[in-house]
Amino acid sequence: MNADLEHLIVLQRLDSAAHDARRRLAEQPEREKALEAQLSAARDVVAASKTKLAESQAVRREHEKTVALHQGRLSKFREQAMAVKTNQEYHAIQKEIEFAQKETKAAEDQVLERMIEADDLSAAIKKAEAELVNEQKQVDASRKAMAAESAELKATLERVAGERTAVVRSLTPQVLSTFELVSSRRNGIAVAEARDGICTICHVRMRPQVFNTVRRNEQIVQCDSCNRFLYFVPTTAAAPAADSATQPAQ
Ligand SMILES: [Zn+2]
Repeated sequence: MNADLEHLIVLQRLDSAAHDARRRLAEQPEREKALEAQLSAARDVVAASKTKLAESQAVRREHEKTVALHQGRLSKFREQAMAVKTNQEYHAIQKEIEFAQKETKAAEDQVLERMIEADDLSAAIKKAEAELVNEQKQVDASRKAMAAESAELKATLERVAGERTAVVRSLTPQVLSTFELVSSRRNGIAVAEARDGICTICHVRMRPQVFNTVRRNEQIVQCDSCNRFLYFVPTTAAAPAADSATQPAQ
């Protein structure tokens, strides 16, 4: 294979690896935001269930006050009932007592209902808190994985940069400057495989004699359409590797 072509393929592999690493690194702030949102949603559920319980308890205290109020009136009426002189007075007090008893009972029922509700709400808080703990664990694990990935990606970038310097040094300057130009204009990809007479990236068919030249990998040939450097992978060498790569998936 032409030495420049061989180096171009390596250079492209390095650039693509660096591009991927930079892209993954650039995605990390978004991923962190998503993790924070996940945690914040779980915290909101806990806070909302605590608010509900506090509201229910406040309502219960109001009903307890009502119970106390009517019980106070009841004992007052009972004292008065002892001191009544007439039947009429007695009946009037009895009526008051009945009313206060009814109100007491109604308020007590409300208190009981709130107590049952409080049990449910407390259980909901416990569940939400357990989910928050679980969520926190997951987020911690994701953050740890992201930090490890970040370190790995940065190491990759450093390694790739070192290897790139070496490859660049061995390239013919003219070829290198063309590579940089095409790369900058073609989304960072300046090298393309030619297969079945077609540039596999821009999908434009090349003239048969051009493809024949490319097949030999002995000359620097650029795609007429996208200007990328073309290389050819002999099928006999590529086929077994491709087969064995697809087998373990099943
Ligand atoms: Zn092309």
